[in-house]
Amino acid sequence: MRTGVFGGTFNPVHNGHIHLARTYFDALRLDRMLVIPTCLPPHKPGEQLADGADRLAMCRLAFDGLPGFEASDIELRRGQKSYTVDTLEQLAKEYPDDGFYLIMGSDMFLTLTGWREWRRICELAVICAGARDTALRGRLADCKRSLEAQGARCELVELNPLPISSTLVRGRAREKKPLGGLVPPKVAAYIDSHGLYQTL
Ligand code: ATP
Repeated sequence: MRTGVFGGTFNPVHNGHIHLARTYFDALRLDRMLVIPTCLPPHKPGEQLADGADRLAMCRLAFDGLPGFEASDIELRRGQKSYTVDTLEQLAKEYPDDGFYLIMGSDMFLTLTGWREWRRICELAVICAGARDTALRGRLADCKRSLEAQGARCELVELNPLPISSTLVRGRAREKKPLGGLVPPKVAAYIDSHGLYQTL
C-alpha cells in the first residue's frame, strides 16, 4: 500500500486541511492517508489548545466517509512530544509492506536537513511538499534536486490552497460566529457542543 502520513496540530482540523489531504491523496495515487494530530504539552492559559482527544475526534469526524482516510492516535498515544522519525519507525513496524509518503508544508521541506535524523526520515519515506505560493516553486525545485543528490526521494505536488487556518476558526468560534465553509458541519457541531475555543 502507498500510505500518506499527514501530521499537524489540527486545533481544529479545517476544510483547508481536508482539501490539502485530498489533493495529495489523488496526486500521489495513495491507497491510504493517515491524519496524525501531534501530542503537545498541556496548554498554558491563552493558547486555546484543545485536548488531544478532542482534536482526534474532530479529525475522525472530518475525514469520516472519505475512503482511504484515517485519523490516527499514534502520536497522542505516546503521550509526549513526538519526532517524525519515531512515528515513521513505528509505522514501518506496524505496516511492513507499505511505502510511506510524508506530507509537509514548503517551509518544512526547505528546512528538512535541520530535522532530527533527517537522513533516516528520507530512508523511511518519500518526502512530499507543495508550494502554497508560486514564488516558492523555484526554491522547492532546487531543494528537491539537492535532497535527491543526497539520496532522498521527493515529490512536489501542485497545490491550490484554501485561505483557511485553525487560528481563523478559533477566532470565529470565540466570537460565536458561524463556522460554515471553514470546517465540515460535524466538526462545527462538535466545537459548539463541547464549548471549544470559547475563551482566550
Ligand atoms: P494554526 O492557524 O493554529 O497555526 P494551521 O491552520 O496552520 O494552524 P496546522 O494543524 O498547523 O494548521 O497544519 C497542519 C499542516 O497543514 C501544516 O503542514 C500546514 O502547513 C498545512 N496547512 C494548514 N492550513 C492549510 C491551508 N489552508 N492550505 C494548505 N495547507 C495548510
